Amino acid sequence: MTYTILFHMAFYCAALLVCLTSIAFTIFQKRTDLSHNKMFLLMNYIVLINALTCFFAEGLQPLTQINAAFHQLRFALELFYFIVHCALAPTLFYYVMNVTRTSLDRPKYLKFLCLFPFIFTEILVVLNPFTHFVYWHDENYAFHRNWGENSIYIAAFIYTVLAFVNLMLSWNALRRRNRYAMTYFFCLTVFGVIVQFIDIDIKSELFCEALALVGLMLTVENEDDRLDATTNIYNRNALKSDVKHLLAKKHSMNVLCLKITNIDMISKITGVSNSDEIMEDVATYLKTFVPREVLYHTDVNTIVLLQKLDSYNKNYIDIIDFAENIYNRFQNDWDIHGVDIKLTPVIMIGDIPTQIQSLENLLYMIDSPVPKDFENSILLEEDLEFFIRRAAVEAAVSNGLKNGRFEVYYQPTHNLSDLKLHGAEMLIRLHDNVIGDLYPDEFIPIAEQAGFIDDIDDFVLNQVCAFIKTGVPMKLGMDCINVNLSVLQCMGNGFVNKILGIVNQYDIPKNFINFEITESVSASDYELLADVIKELKSNGFLFSMDDYGTGYSNMHTLFSLDFDIVKIDKSILWDAEKSEIGQIILENCVHMIRQMKRKILVEGVETDSQINRLKALGVDYLQGYYFSKPITQNAFLKYCEAIELERSKIC
Ligand code: C2E
Ligand code: CA
Ligand code: CA
Repeated sequence: MTYTILFHMAFYCAALLVCLTSIAFTIFQKRTDLSHNKMFLLMNYIVLINALTCFFAEGLQPLTQINAAFHQLRFALELFYFIVHCALAPTLFYYVMNVTRTSLDRPKYLKFLCLFPFIFTEILVVLNPFTHFVYWHDENYAFHRNWGENSIYIAAFIYTVLAFVNLMLSWNALRRRNRYAMTYFFCLTVFGVIVQFIDIDIKSELFCEALALVGLMLTVENEDDRLDATTNIYNRNALKSDVKHLLAKKHSMNVLCLKITNIDMISKITGVSNSDEIMEDVATYLKTFVPREVLYHTDVNTIVLLQKLDSYNKNYIDIIDFAENIYNRFQNDWDIHGVDIKLTPVIMIGDIPTQIQSLENLLYMIDSPVPKDFENSILLEEDLEFFIRRAAVEAAVSNGLKNGRFEVYYQPTHNLSDLKLHGAEMLIRLHDNVIGDLYPDEFIPIAEQAGFIDDIDDFVLNQVCAFIKTGVPMKLGMDCINVNLSVLQCMGNGFVNKILGIVNQYDIPKNFINFEITESVSASDYELLADVIKELKSNGFLFSMDDYGTGYSNMHTLFSLDFDIVKIDKSILWDAEKSEIGQIILENCVHMIRQMKRKILVEGVETDSQINRLKALGVDYLQGYYFSKPITQNAFLKYCEAIELERSKIC
């Protein structure tokens, strides 16, 4: 055996061993179920088989001189080499498409077009014993190339270029590690081919391919950092990076988020110290419908399914049917540690980018705690939009408290008799840098549910006290500053002491603070509320009943709670302008509150005619856009200066 043959065999042997290592590790680490895993293994098998056939064909070469049968065997091995080798470039092409998540579900003719070079070269090879189009042996058993082999090279070149172009087009959508690993793969493979082309005795092609595959095994195929150990599906980081990359490629996606809302409670009942086992059972159930590569375990109680949408992707699961299946499954018990348990699901279905525009949006949706009324349901479309908005607002409130994004606006109130400044109502605003400016009608109910309302009200009260402490309101001749309180909070434990604790720090007259509450408590709680009001009033604070006439307030409340001022809601005033019945209601409200000896403030005053109407009825104070919208503290001070100036001119 010549040294050249041994030299060739050493290359093949090295390629063979490297490939064997890759295959063994991949199988050992169970990275075999995803479609790109399968293609990766297939590439390894191809290189392995090629290395084996080349090794034996090379070894047989000296023997062909001895016996023609060896020559036949060598010819057969070479044929087998070509049959297998033709599949390498197409497999690489499909592998890259898979890793870059480029759709493979094209119309039939395109699918055929993609496979055409492969099919063509295979036919050439299979027919070679009869046609010798690819290669032939002369009478001395020497190997000769024919035009068919060039066709195989051209086909491989086409697939490689297509795969490379695809890689470049998906560059931004790939994880950094994968980008460089794939580029390295291409460079090393091309290097191997070029070296072998320059010097036929350096059999570097298969060896470089095998080495480049090791690179892929260590990077693209190694998803340890993306996998959740318990459920063996992807983790939160994987979801973040996949969504980011799919968004970069402008892909549409369906998202299904399954949350189990009673998981904490279940953990306590069953004695399972963590929720992993429950989620493992749920993930196993989901995996019977969909491949694991579309599932992500993002939080203790949350699994997300990400379905890339394709116009050609007809036979993939219908997401709504799937949601209904899951929902129905959850109506039955789950066997957890031998105990039959009912798990409460919330299933949200949305699509990217119509309903969910960004990764932040998606995270709001999947991370947001589920309010009780949404439990055990499927949330779609408006429900989902409502839920996402709610989640975004909740996040804005929480960030706003941390980063000082709340601001108190002032809306002046005026005496009706001489239209002089009477006071101001503090109205809170939230300036969020993600979803913009928010109004209290939207965020206060959410803050109440999410437990932030105490912090907000404390913030407002501190602002008010600080403003009173400056002495400016007194100088401006104001009687009081109105502060809104949430009734829920008023009835919390230690509320009176908390208020006193804050206000006492400032050493200000308490009768400068006028608390506004909207009556919305059930009859049984009146007594408690009455006690709170009584106690605070005995300390000097004033109280107003807000939004009188909106349907919440009733006579009983007016009698039992000792308000200084009743604020008639703007809708009553506006209705009075629209109809005679409206006018009768307004007149009767005013008449009745007057008889109860309470002062009256009317909100929502916007026009002269409304002021005249109220003058005729004889109320005490006015508030509304006629005077000013709620404005910042600086704007409010300027407003006060301007009306002072006007007044001094008239005098
Ligand atoms: P509210 O106490 O009834 O406040 C009056 C609302 O009517 C304010 O809306 C104000 O901007 C608006 N308004 C006043 N005059 C006019 C007018 O002439 N025309 C029209 N179209 N609207 C007028 P805003 O500021 O959005 O506040 C909404 C509600 O949020 C308030 O209703 C109050 O219940 C609550 N709120 C505001 N600030 C706070 C706060 O600091 N704490 C609590 N707990 N609730 C607050
Ligand atoms: Ca109010
Ligand atoms: Ca009001």
